[in-house]
Order: sequence, then structure tokens, then C-alpha cells
Amino acid sequence: MEKTFIMIKPDGVERGLIGEIIGRIEKKGYKITKAKLITPDIDTVENHYVEHKDKPFFRKLVDFITSGKVMAMEVEGENVIQVMRLMVGDKDPKVALPGTIRGDFTNTTTKNIVHASDSEESAQRELEIWFN
Ligand code: ADP
Ligand code: MG
Repeated sequence: MEKTFIMIKPDGVERGLIGEIIGRIEKKGYKITKAKLITPDIDTVENHYVEHKDKPFFRKLVDFITSGKVMAMEVEGENVIQVMRLMVGDKDPKVALPGTIRGDFTNTTTKNIVHASDSEESAQRELEIWFN
């Protein structure tokens, strides 16, 4: 069965959206097979976002993700990687459709509530980082 890595970012936890997001995942028919609520360390987050390490927003992004608690999850089900990306919505608030998590709850790019792995390779890599 396919597995993906989902993280509710500090803004999602702070705003009390854990239940809302887990509810959407479960109602879609997916299973949460691992979960932990933690304040992540800098190394973990830098490794997680290594593909963006040369981007101008990298420092701000790492500071944001390490600023509070995140809910890290392994989620399992058919086509879960691609379907969760659809359910999360685009990072650009001008593109994220209503009905998606980002489309319904955010209007900015950095504080966008949730992360979902973008491919099978990323899912494997990210699950290894967060749940080794
Ligand atoms: P996604 O989270 O949809 O996979 P990216 O991989 O492009 O998007 O970016 C990772 C995260 O970095 C985004 O979710 C967002 O929190 C942050 N981010 C991306 N682009 C920008 C930007 N231009 N300015 C600030 N933060 C950004
Ligand atoms: Mg990404």
C-alpha cells in the first residue's frame, strides 16, 4: 500500500486545525499509520527541505517550521501521494482552489498549514527522516 508523509505545520497546530485536517484525511478513506506531535530540530527541517537550500526563502522557512509544534504523520492508501497533494492545494494562494486545505484556510505562501510529499521518492525520503 502506498504511503506518504504529511506534516501539519506550526500555524496549523497553533490555529487548532489538527482535527480539521485529520478529519479530511480520514473521511477520504486514508489511514493515519504513524503520528507524532513534536517541535522539530533545525537539522531535521533543513534536511527535509534540502531541495530549497539555495532559495531566498530557505532561512525563513526553516525558522518558521522550527518555531513550534508540528504534527508529523505517515498516511497510507491507494494513490495517497498524488491525492493528498490535490487535497492540500497549491502553495500560491492565488492558485489554491477553495475545497483544498490551503485554499480554505490560508492566504499566504510561507504559512500554509500543511506539507505533503510530492512523489514516491520524496515520500520515502521524508518518512525516513521523520520516522526512521
Ligand atoms: P509545496 O509545499 O507545495 O511542496 P514548495 O516545495 O515549492 O511547495 O515549497 C516548500 C514550502 O516553502 C512551501 O510550502 C512554503 O511553506 C515555502 N515557500 C515556497 N515558496 C516560497 C516563497 N516564494 N516565499 C516564502 N515561502 C515559500
Ligand atoms: Mg515541495
